[in-house]
Amino acid sequence: LYVDHPLAEGQSIPLERDQAHYLFGVMRLSEGAPVALFNSRDGEFVAEVTLAGKRGGELTCIAKTRELQMPPDLWLIFAPIKKARTDFIVEKAAEMGARRILPVGTDFTNSERIRQDRLQAHAVEAAEQCGGTYVPEVADLMKLDRLLADWDEERQIMFCDETLVGAAEALGEVRGGKWAILIGPEGGFSEAERKRLHALPYAHAVSLGPRILRADTAAVAALTVWQQQLGD
Ligand code: SAM
Repeated sequence: LYVDHPLAEGQSIPLERDQAHYLFGVMRLSEGAPVALFNSRDGEFVAEVTLAGKRGGELTCIAKTRELQMPPDLWLIFAPIKKARTDFIVEKAAEMGARRILPVGTDFTNSERIRQDRLQAHAVEAAEQCGGTYVPEVADLMKLDRLLADWDEERQIMFCDETLVGAAEALGEVRGGKWAILIGPEGGFSEAERKRLHALPYAHAVSLGPRILRADTAAVAALTVWQQQLGD
């Protein structure tokens, strides 16, 4: 279970209503039951249910079971698409170990609004599901232009460009370091955006094969390629 609370031996953790509902209503846990906890900072702890109520409750940390496992310093930048597909991208990015997830507005972005809180909740669920000790932060929607204007040039961009033909520029051999994967919207990037991205010295244009993938498929494919070539 992810909790936004410091974790240490003997620490008591108050539960919010939805957490209590999940643990005691859905999972049917009662007082004395063990629960694994993480908070993206202190690693994983085993805790015990010390108070089980309908609208709240309390857990008490017993012992640390795992150190924090930070994912690689990889961001996934994507243009939000339809709701279910956007949810899918966030879920898969959290499972595959992205550290930050950044929805961006581009020239052809389909959706100008996102529910950041909902997407963040999906990231929490995905991290819980895959036994992670870290939940990636989902940023609020911002314009790609603005993001690139403040870009830290040490962070390389794996720019997924479906118009590339033939061999893509090599990603390099450098494992570790700061990276971001960039995926476009359903309509792809505009000519002006593509030109700008190709001109950035820290952007590496990459093909994911000869077929045009849906943006959600492209996100998973790109995360896989990155993990395979550059992941730890
Ligand atoms: N019209 C489809 C859809 O409705 O989802 C295609 C979307 S495709 C244009 C969306 C993004 O996925 C592209 O901007 C690109 O970043 C990435 N992408 C898709 N296929 C790709 C490929 N073969 N190589 C590299 N990137 C690809």
